[in-house]
Amino acid sequence: MFSNDTVKLLEKKISDMPTIIGGRSLKHDIDDLVASIFPPSKLAIVDDAQTSDAMGDHVHRALKGRFGVMHVTLAGTPEATTEIAAYVAQKAEGCDAFIAVGSGTINDICKYVSHKSGKPYAVFPTAASMNGYLSANASIADDGYKQTLAAHIPRAVFCDFSVIAAAPARLNKSGLGDSLARPTAQFDWLLSHLLLGTDYDETPFQILAALEPQLLDHARGIAKGDMASVELLMHVLLLSGLGMTMAGGSYPASQSEHMIAHSYGMLKGNTQNHATLHGEEIGVTSLHVAQLQHALLRQKPSLRRDNFPKEDIAALFGGHVADESKKAYFKKLERMEHSGIGGEIPARRWDEVVAKLEKTMLPPDKIRSVLEAADAPHVPEKLGWNKEQLQKATSYARFLRDRFTVLDLL
Ligand SMILES: [Zn+2]
Repeated sequence: MFSNDTVKLLEKKISDMPTIIGGRSLKHDIDDLVASIFPPSKLAIVDDAQTSDAMGDHVHRALKGRFGVMHVTLAGTPEATTEIAAYVAQKAEGCDAFIAVGSGTINDICKYVSHKSGKPYAVFPTAASMNGYLSANASIADDGYKQTLAAHIPRAVFCDFSVIAAAPARLNKSGLGDSLARPTAQFDWLLSHLLLGTDYDETPFQILAALEPQLLDHARGIAKGDMASVELLMHVLLLSGLGMTMAGGSYPASQSEHMIAHSYGMLKGNTQNHATLHGEEIGVTSLHVAQLQHALLRQKPSLRRDNFPKEDIAALFGGHVADESKKAYFKKLERMEHSGIGGEIPARRWDEVVAKLEKTMLPPDKIRSVLEAADAPHVPEKLGWNKEQLQKATSYARFLRDRFTVLDLL
């Protein structure tokens, strides 16, 4: 599915490359595709009410002649929680492998449950809504607290682009929003490397470099469900996931823009955030962070090394979040201390840093115009977010994770 150069880079970095197959219609090949990766066995097909209509029922019919199958269709609009994961694990007991048919939630549940039970899984995406199809971690909420839990990547991703292009436009626009975190995440990841000496790798960005400019030109096509545009988006999302897998974490695709969105989601007393999609939030926070990063380059910054505001954090996010994030923040403080940067960053050093950071950026105006072309949310109000709450989320986000980002500079 990818160019030869990309495949070479991927094979160099990822020892166990999954099978990735895409086509304008895979409906007649489903059983052969699955048989090419799993021996005759018992499969648990997992979907929800929407995705079983889009593809899951079809997958079930195609596989039941050739495999033992159980079909677990989750009711309503399920969320990726430990509770639902436990339900799926119990329903699918006795299966040898999982087949996920869905997007963010179903994929997260299957990658987590299959990993926990030591079984492989494959996925038929039904929307290009986020970049987690090929990332090894799962985002699972436990008692309202969103956690990134260890999981594994699928053995195979089978993309039927006629199904993905027919997904509700909002889902694919959300995938575009998630992709817009590339420049802001690269900026932050490189900033941390240049100032604190943390690890950094260009490869996750090299594999995206040729596709990203094309993607930005296809925003309108994505919104309209144009198949070529959605196909391009899916390529970018899969490669973004592989970038995270090779980096050993979400570093190349998730930094301050994700931290702000997660903080907002964890704030106590927020009731509006259920209606928003992950990538819609990330489109908005990526634009906001791009503006902060842009402004930072014209300043003479210093590292912010405040004490951990435990009481504030507990009041805003709850005691559990305060306990968990304290450890993460201390790790970051320690790294800042080891950097040897006392007060303001020395001017010559900062000039060198700026020259390198500039190469990673997209102008904020470009990000805004892409979101507008897709008719996707670009300001917090469009998400129904409360401005005051967002301000709190933004100023406390740096205390909630160990990642060093633009938010840690003054
Ligand atoms: Zn994301």
